[in-house]
Amino acid sequence: MYEHDVLIIGGGLAGLRAAVEVTRAGADVAVISKVHPVRSHSNAAQGGINAPLTDRGDDWEGHAYDTIKGSDFLADQDAVEVMSSEAGEAVLELERMGVIFSRGEDGKLGTRAFGGQKVARTFFVGAITGSAILHVLFEQSLKLGLNVYEEWFVTKLIIEDGVCRGVVAIDLKTGEMHTIKAKAVIMAAGGAGRVFEPSTNALICTGDGLSLAYQAGVPLMDMEMIQYHPTTLARTGILMSEAARGEGGYLLNAAGERFMEKTAPDYMELASRDVVSRAEQTEIDEGRGIDGNVLLDLRHLGREYIEAKLGYLQEVSVEFLGIDMAEQPVPVQPGMHYIMGGIKTDVNGATNVPGLYAAGECANVSVHGANRLGANSLLDTVVFGRRSGAHAVEYIKSVGAHSKAEEDLANEKARIQALLDRPKGERVATIRNDMARGMTKGIGVFRDQASMEGALENLKNVKSRMGGFSIENKGKVFNTDLMFGLELEFMIDCAEAVVAGALTRKESRGAHFRTDITERDDENWLKHTLMYKDEEAENGVRVETSDVTITQWEPVKRVY
Ligand SMILES: Cc1cc2nc3c(=O)[nH]c(=O)nc-3n(C[C@H](O)[C@H](O)[C@H](O)COP(=O)(O)OP(=O)(O)OC[C@H]3O[C@@H](n4cnc5c(N)ncnc54)[C@H](O)[C@@H]3O)c2cc1C
Repeated sequence: MYEHDVLIIGGGLAGLRAAVEVTRAGADVAVISKVHPVRSHSNAAQGGINAPLTDRGDDWEGHAYDTIKGSDFLADQDAVEVMSSEAGEAVLELERMGVIFSRGEDGKLGTRAFGGQKVARTFFVGAITGSAILHVLFEQSLKLGLNVYEEWFVTKLIIEDGVCRGVVAIDLKTGEMHTIKAKAVIMAAGGAGRVFEPSTNALICTGDGLSLAYQAGVPLMDMEMIQYHPTTLARTGILMSEAARGEGGYLLNAAGERFMEKTAPDYMELASRDVVSRAEQTEIDEGRGIDGNVLLDLRHLGREYIEAKLGYLQEVSVEFLGIDMAEQPVPVQPGMHYIMGGIKTDVNGATNVPGLYAAGECANVSVHGANRLGANSLLDTVVFGRRSGAHAVEYIKSVGAHSKAEEDLANEKARIQALLDRPKGERVATIRNDMARGMTKGIGVFRDQASMEGALENLKNVKSRMGGFSIENKGKVFNTDLMFGLELEFMIDCAEAVVAGALTRKESRGAHFRTDITERDDENWLKHTLMYKDEEAENGVRVETSDVTITQWEPVKRVY
């Protein structure tokens, strides 16, 4: 019998920051993760975490405004105010817990410039910021008594009378299925990058959390807002961190021109990510690229500087393309990187289902709106991870005994056995690849009605094949084949919500840029899209809209 006060799905930064908060309050808490917690995608974050620290004359309003402008005014400003005003304390607290941030010559915490921000306020730990924070949070929460279900895979949320009461999960090591009961569940299951191919995201970023909440009746908000990062390495899709441009790297076209002069004369390479990605794609589409790429040039920084500050990027470039960045520019292209959309929550992480919270990349609070600023995601995970943990601790005080129900477990066992019993059919990987390539093609850096309808048609085709795939491995122990099949089902839900949102929004805003409607339309579309799973609705998705919260910054034209 597995029972806890609070169960956190996900051992990335959002999940572990929530765990620290709940353990500090003395509640019984467990984290469940399909991989060892420190292998979560948060581990891959290199660039840094934003915070407006006052010791260098920065202020939270400045960070808030840059974030809101970056979001193309789609972020809810009350949520951004919370994030920005709590940022300084959140980052200093990480340092007190043991994260050894890099420091400058003066001994103060060192910063680097990141895109879309007026001042340098990105704090970092060499090229391992995510990893460093993740390890410290893991060690701190273990010290405080965290329970960990490591390499367990959640297949369903238990919802009784509209209230979330726990999960059904597979212990991947044994293949056994169990119910884990909880008075509150915090969804911190990360992003959905792999709904697109290629992507900078780890293969485990399959949108499980978004889908689990969506199936439980929670709306997914602004799912059409997909971030394409401007610098992913040619042919591999590997992320070349924004730190490369933050430290002074240029972007060049085939003629050797710094083309950002045309679109963002003030911010140049450090304009918002959506702006830079579009500028690159335009160069490529208009024949000024090099084999579908533009060039990232660090040569002027000098070998010593590159190796000291951007050693990891140099390593990747040499290893994968044989290019020494001190001698030659490296080819890069825009690549899918992050999903701004997600599970709709309030500023405490609460969803519309009592007992269910969400934080981190799977959630949409909304602080990133139509485009996230680099280094604001790590900040989002720790600020809203903490808040959801704190609120869940309050919530469980009003919850009585654990649920007694076991029918979800029996149903899930039967569903998964039926999947294993299917006759030989199509391979999961083939369907997954067809879905993800179709998403990139239709919902790309640029999109229009025809491309989005193409993505929808592709998705219908993919869905019609879902009854026909088979799980080749019938074994119990570490059946990753089964896991890939279940992940594909989650990904299809995410893809449907993305396409529905994209087809609904009749304007261009942030990352949602339509070549057939190129202007932002505040009169009609200063609105969030909300996607509900609804079998009765067209294509299985009901779309509603809601107003954006404006507190003190009226929308203006976005210029960089
Ligand atoms: C290459 C890369 C570099 C980045 N660099 C930066 C950066 O420098 N700065 C920045 O701000 N942002 C960066 N980002 C974005 C940022 O890292 C992520 O948005 C953030 O770390 C997500 O944290 P999370 O806790 O929400 O999710 P994750 O770290 O993705 O963790 C998700 C967790 O959920 C678990 N899980 C998922 N599904 C299930 C399931 N079905 N059952 C059980 N467990 C499950 C996983 O095992 C995992 O533990 C980067 C992203 C990438 C891909």
